[in-house]
This record gives sequence, structure tokens and C-alpha cells, in this order.
Amino acid sequence: MLDYQAPNDLLKEKVILVTGAGDGIGKQAALSYAACGATVILLGRTTKKLEAVYDQIESLGYPQAAIVPLNLDTAAEHDYIELANTIETEFGRLDGILHNASILGDRTPLANFEPSTFEQVMRVNVTAAFLLNQALIPLLQKAPKASIIFTTSSVGRKAKAYWGAYAVSKFATEAMMQLLADELENISNIRVNAINPGGTRTNMRAHAYPAEDPNTLKTPLDIMPLYLYLMGNDSADINGQSLDAQPK
Ligand code: NDP
Repeated sequence: MLDYQAPNDLLKEKVILVTGAGDGIGKQAALSYAACGATVILLGRTTKKLEAVYDQIESLGYPQAAIVPLNLDTAAEHDYIELANTIETEFGRLDGILHNASILGDRTPLANFEPSTFEQVMRVNVTAAFLLNQALIPLLQKAPKASIIFTTSSVGRKAKAYWGAYAVSKFATEAMMQLLADELENISNIRVNAINPGGTRTNMRAHAYPAEDPNTLKTPLDIMPLYLYLMGNDSADINGQSLDAQPK
């Protein structure tokens, strides 16, 4: 999918929520979606980073973005409902969600894994996406064609030693994607898929592989073709798939 060329108006008039939009892959996805005409809602925990992305979108002349500072570790059900109400009032529609925000947690054998860290990783990587979907699916259902994209990982398909809660959370992400895709298939216009970015030059990757030379890795921009393809209407018939943004 690395060769997909998105037309400049692929996401024209669409409103798209990106979680973890302040840095790494989420930041690039927000910029790339805006470049294709989307109004992007930038959700993240560090307002300063979100403001920098907002400013970049503005200076490039793309549709004006919106900022939603929200810590997915501490957010409660009512925060997601409030967000849904705000999106409905401000924009009157929602066409897509990119569930991108995640934390790595510790890379430790499960036998020694800190229980509070385990719960935190599951809250940010899994529960937050569950609550966000519950609050926002009614709005997505009103869009002519809507797309939910989860972010998985190779350790969400085949777990490897010491990947701990992160691997468990990515298996759960794959399950949530499959459940929603199956449940929504015949009753809505929402398709649900997952992207495995593959090794990508970000802070998370540098943290997981401190000895690796980042210059050997694809950049977030390199992997955008699949992110664009799955968010735009060209993928309208794709549902329930877990796809790789980079060739193996
Ligand atoms: P980064 O750590 O660079 O970015 C993660 C983003 O998520 C940041 O903007 C971060 O905010 C945000 N975030 C983290 N915790 C919270 C929280 N509690 N509330 C709100 N936002 C939060 O990671 P990547 O860009 O590398 O990863 C993006 C996705 O891709 C993740 O789902 C990751 O698991 C997946 N992935 C990445 C790979 C890679 O090689 N990079 C490989 C496989 C999968 P802040 O900047 O404020 O910390």
C-alpha cells in the first residue's frame, strides 16, 4: 500500500479525529489528513504539542484544525460523552477516527511486571479507544461513509518476550477491531480496520530500541499512504482487516 497516491481532495469536507496527534505518527497523520482537505480534531495530552500542529496546519493553509487536550489515562466516560457533544455542536459531523495514541509501558518479563503499569497501558491503549468509540459511533453513523482505524503492532499478532502489557494491549486492539467490524458490517456505513505501522522513526521506537540507528527506519511521512487510503472513500469496501503500512 506504500504506493497509494491520495488525491488532494481525498478528505474534503470530512471531519477526522486523531488521538495522540501531537507527536510521531499521529502528528504526521493529522498533517497528511489536513493536506487532503480534512478538518482534523487533534486529541492529545500535551497542549503545547497540539498547538504546534495546529499552527503548522494553519500556516500551510489547510482547513482550520481543532484542539482537544485530553489525557486518555485519566479521562472518564463523561469526558468522552462531552467530547461527542462538542464535536456535534461545533462540526455537526464526524467521518473518521484514527486511534493512534499508545504508551509502551515497561519492557519486563510478565512475572515482574508492575501491576499499576499494566493497568495504565491497558487504560490508554485499550479502554480509551473502547470509550471513545462508544461515545462517537452514533455520530459516525450519520456520516455517508465513515472509517475507524486502530493502530496495532507486530507484537499484537505474535507476542514476543518482554513486550508485556503493550503486546497484550495490541492483541486486545486487534480483537476490538474485529468485533466492531463484524458488528457494524451490515447495520452501518462504518468500516473498521487496523494498521501496523512497522518500525517507524518516532520517540516510542527510540525508547523501545535505544541502540538502533533511527536513520535506518521509515519516517512517519513514508508510511502515510496506508493511513490515507484507509481513511478515504477509496477503501470503502475494506472492513475487518489488519494491514501493514510497510512491506515485510
Ligand atoms: P509516540 O510515542 O511518538 O507518540 C504517541 C502519541 O500518543 C504522543 O502524541 C503522545 O502524547 C500520545 N499519548 C500517549 N499517552 C497519551 C495519553 N495518556 N493521553 C493522550 N495522548 C497520549 O508513538 P508513535 O508515533 O511511535 O506511535 C503511534 C502508534 O503507532 C502507537 O499506537 C504505537 O503503538 C504504534 N506503533 C508504532 C511503531 C513505531 O515503530 N513507531 C511500531 C508499531 C506500532 P505526548 O506526545 O504528549 O506524549
